[in-house]
Amino acid sequence: MARIVMKFGGTSMAGIERIRNVAQRVKREVDAGNEVAVVVSAMAGETDRLVGFCREAAALHDPAEYDVVVASGEQVTSGLLAITLQAIGVPARSWLGWQLPIRTSDAHSTARIGDIDTSAVLADMAKGRVAVVPGFQGVTDDGRVTTLGRGGSDTSAVAVAAALKADRCDIYTDVDGVYTTDPRIVPKAKKLQSVTFEEMLELASVGAKVLQTRSVELAMKEKVKVQVLSSFTDAPGTFVVDEEEGVEQELITGIAYNRNEAQVTVTGVPDTPGVVSRIFEPLSAANINVDMIVQNVARESGRTDVTFTVPRTELARAMDELTKSKDAIGYGALEAVDNVCKVSVVGVGMKSHAGVALTMFKALGDRGINIKAITTSEIKISVLIAEEYTELAVRVLHTAYGLDDTSEPAGAAA
Ligand code: ADP
Ligand code: ASP
Ligand code: MG
Repeated sequence: MARIVMKFGGTSMAGIERIRNVAQRVKREVDAGNEVAVVVSAMAGETDRLVGFCREAAALHDPAEYDVVVASGEQVTSGLLAITLQAIGVPARSWLGWQLPIRTSDAHSTARIGDIDTSAVLADMAKGRVAVVPGFQGVTDDGRVTTLGRGGSDTSAVAVAAALKADRCDIYTDVDGVYTTDPRIVPKAKKLQSVTFEEMLELASVGAKVLQTRSVELAMKEKVKVQVLSSFTDAPGTFVVDEEEGVEQELITGIAYNRNEAQVTVTGVPDTPGVVSRIFEPLSAANINVDMIVQNVARESGRTDVTFTVPRTELARAMDELTKSKDAIGYGALEAVDNVCKVSVVGVGMKSHAGVALTMFKALGDRGINIKAITTSEIKISVLIAEEYTELAVRVLHTAYGLDDTSEPAGAAA
């Protein structure tokens, strides 16, 4: 007998028919003699709908109340899955975030999981009942509902698996594994049999939303065995493994893109020490994450421009903060562009190979795609481009690095 956590994403939970399909998969594991906890997402599109209501109610709203609203999507699906399981003879009950409880920080809308009290749920599972836990939600020490940031149900699943000391955490989604890039954009993307934590972390952090970045961090830290697989087929999935587990290391693991990007240019700032910190101070104080940064060479006047990116969802707040600090920073004007996209190439093999960046710049240049900013790390190169070229850039790079799957007509299986 094994203890397993099964996580089902929004597409897998979208409607009663799909929830019935999920219930059958859970039943299979129960019938095989396993102890099962299930973590569920809201139905596809539901969280967006709820976020939309909050924005419509007030552009700047209380994040604690936002959490009360958006956490409801998962409450619905957890109850529905418990009902559906019971209807096919599988004893089950839901455990809301505050009932377990899943304790989190009080950083509303981006809360971090602290500890999870598993005593009650373990006792119940031992009696043969499936535990159904809504993903994405938790509770603060003083009893307020929190959520973990978009895509956070993956992190709930890994955290529950760690707390339950589960033998594995299976992440069921609408593709049958982790691919060399988003198989919805590149049908020739190749499925990876396994991917290292380090590579998955980097891919997730630059936009491959198949796993939330924090879930990968947590799995790495807590040594949770994670597998990504399809809710709709029985194809083998992708294991996330330690580097030592002997996966064949390719030069490039994959390509990712992130459309949640906006570019801000602060023009006419004095080219003196300390000025960049004056720009970023108010952004940091407002918890706005600055990513790519380009400082232009000073013009003759002793003034320069600083360009950087922030998440598109934070652009309005960033502009507001910078406008409030105009006198303290001493800049000329602010410019914002929100139709940009970051495309990244990730691969552990990059550490020891020269010329990887050149291949990228050349491939994009040949297609007339202009690069607005560049950042690199040991195992990643990212470029900022106009959003309209996203799909073309991802395809061109996938081919340029020799990642196209030539063995099958189509890579994606949903
Ligand atoms: P869920 O609702 O199950 O959590 P998500 O939409 O969050 O699903 O994540 C799955 C999606 O991630 C896929 O439908 C796919 O479009 C996208 N994706 C992006 N990059 C990759 C990748 N490298 N491999 C697989 N899927 C990817
Ligand atoms: N429903 C939440 C979201 O859409 C959490 C998740 O699905 O992982 O972000
Ligand atoms: Mg997701």
